Parts: sequence; structure tokens; C-alpha cells
Amino acid sequence: MSISENLAAVRERIHKAARRAGRSSEEIALMAVSKTQPAERIREAYSAGQRLFGENRVQEFGLKAEAMQDLKDAEWHMIGHLQSNKAARTAELFRAVDSVDSVKLAEKLDAAARALGRTLEVLIEINVGGEAAKSGVAPDSHELEGLLLAAPRLKALVFRGLMTVPPLTDDPQSARPYFGKLRELRDAIAARKLPSVAMDELSMGMSHDFEVAIEEGSTCVRVGTAIFGERIKA
Ligand SMILES: *Cc1c(COP(=O)(O)O)cnc(C)c1O
Repeated sequence: MSISENLAAVRERIHKAARRAGRSSEEIALMAVSKTQPAERIREAYSAGQRLFGENRVQEFGLKAEAMQDLKDAEWHMIGHLQSNKAARTAELFRAVDSVDSVKLAEKLDAAARALGRTLEVLIEINVGGEAAKSGVAPDSHELEGLLLAAPRLKALVFRGLMTVPPLTDDPQSARPYFGKLRELRDAIAARKLPSVAMDELSMGMSHDFEVAIEEGSTCVRVGTAIFGERIKA
């Protein structure tokens, strides 16, 4: 199957999952996760109408970005773990960082965006499964509270919601409680009406479990393999 056929199939599955959940598929953005994919394959997705893309390595995307400069309305999000020493380059390359997981990183991104005279949209990444090896802040952590309270002074950052990658299993249904947990956390934060903190976005769901994520309230599914095929492992 071509990238364009895969995209059409994924869009159809999003539509069906939304309908099952009594939602409109217009509430759900499809992010094509283009990490490890060369520029030509990303262009193929762009030609098929895809505009929102996720990358997980600053350096890798930096090398590809030049070859895609003409795709003016493509929107690039950083979705991988980010070290704060890469903040400046990140602010140059990306419109949004969906994987903010510390106050220190948020401060560096804010300073970097300010220096460029622009804003960066951000999501806070939550480690819903409490996995030691995974990035993201714990749902009831001091770090999360610190991020939420720092938002008003981080004026170049636009806090838009939460992101998560649940523990990986073969059965998509086993991700459901984690997706539900992220939605409940989002609702609890939204109810506090904190200054400069919008909680409209819930980025959750990947190739194997995006339909379940949609049923649990996802507003952005991040899909790599189901669009581009299996990634070549480095
Ligand atoms: C790679 C990746 C995805 C996409 O995973 P697939 O299983 O290929 O759909 C989604 N989110 C994040 C954070 C990723 O790193």
C-alpha cells in the first residue's frame, strides 16, 4: 500500500472510531509521525494532503528540514524526549513541543522562543504508567504542579494540554485505563482554571491503539507505522 492509501485508511478508521464514540472526527487531528523517514517519503504524505507531522529527534529533523523548506504550511511538532541544551535549535525548527516534562526544559524553551520573538505551543507529557524508563512527569508530581504554576511567567509558551505514551502491550484495550486516566487528569486541571493554562488538547493514541484513544477522548493521534510502514530499526 502507498503512503497515500495508508493515510486514507487511517483517516477512515479515525472517522469510524469517532462515530462509535459519538464524536465528530473534526475534533481529532491526525499527526503523521515521520521520524526516521526520509524527506521524499514525508513529501509523499504532504502530497496526499497531510500537514501535521511529528518528529522525535532535533538533530535528525534539522538535517531533513532543509529539503522540505518549500512545504510552507506543514506543521512540525517535537514529540520525543528533549534535553534542555537543544532548546534553542528546537525553537528554530518546530512550531510546538508536545513532550515538555520539566520546569527546567520549559524555561529553556521559553527563553529560546523569546530570543526568536516567537511563541511555542507546548503539551505536558505525562508518564501515566509510572514506568521508570519513560519520560514524562508523574500525574501527581511536584514537577507537574511546578509546570502548571510556571505557565503565566513563561510568556513565550502556550500551554495547550497533555500528551502520553502508555505502557506498550499487544492488546490495544489494555491502554484504555491509561487513556482514561489522562483524560481525567486533563479535566481536573481544566477545572482549576489556572491562568495561562489551556487544557484543550489530549495527544494520545499510536498506530496500534489510536481507535481506543479516540473512544477515550483523544484530540490528536500520533501515527507512524500505519502510515509509513515499519520503521527500519537503527
Ligand atoms: C514513534 C512515536 C509514535 C508513533 O508510533 P507508531 O507505533 O509508529 O504509530 C507516536 N508517539 C511517539 C511519542 C513516538 O515516539
